[in-house]
Amino acid sequence: MSEENKKKAVKMEDVKAKADEKQCAVQKALTFVEEFLAEPMCGRCFPCSMGSYEAQIRLKRLTDGSATEEDIAAVRKIADVMSEASMCKKGKDTAKYLQEDVDLNDLANHVTGVCQKNECMEFTRYMIIPENCTMCGDCLEACKDNAILGEKKKPYYSGYLPYEIVQKRCTKCGECLKVCRFDAVKTVTAKEMAESEKVEA
Ligand code: SF4
Ligand code: SF4
Ligand code: SF4
Repeated sequence: MSEENKKKAVKMEDVKAKADEKQCAVQKALTFVEEFLAEPMCGRCFPCSMGSYEAQIRLKRLTDGSATEEDIAAVRKIADVMSEASMCKKGKDTAKYLQEDVDLNDLANHVTGVCQKNECMEFTRYMIIPENCTMCGDCLEACKDNAILGEKKKPYYSGYLPYEIVQKRCTKCGECLKVCRFDAVKTVTAKEMAESEKVEA
């Protein structure tokens, strides 16, 4: 299939369906824009092509905690311009999705470092709750990234190294949470973790 035919083959409904699989507003918007850029967007008109690329950059910032209110304002403005000036329905549909299907309040949460749906992994931290941890060692075995420290409990021995996750090594794969049978692994936002560290200090 030629590149041109391939672009025609991807429908805007497919783009929307992919974006709607996400719960987080930023991930929804970013998925929509990225899927649109990858296939149906043809690049024939400036407002749609440049607008989509610029929206992608601004939305990516929202996923990694580097965004400001200015990025949200820019996404709104891009959507308005695309809606008015895009040459075809595909560009207008992209603008409509950003204007109508994306919860802008959720975008604002990301500026404060919170992804309420836990889909922006830069904001998520895995942690072990010491009170629930039985030191069974299952998480340590499951972690392929050597991000967990701790010693397995042995009868008649004391003074163990408690289990903890080294955040710098954690790739957020979620395996530790899956294998823990004692509800001792949970996810928190980066903000919550920083606050709990402040209290402990
Ligand atoms: S609005 Fe339509 S014609 Fe213009 S770049 Fe987007 S897809 Fe192409
Ligand atoms: S799997 Fe759970 S209970 Fe076992 S060591 Fe890890 S955190 Fe603790
Ligand atoms: S989320 Fe994955 S990488 Fe991080 S500590 Fe758990 S198992 Fe290891």
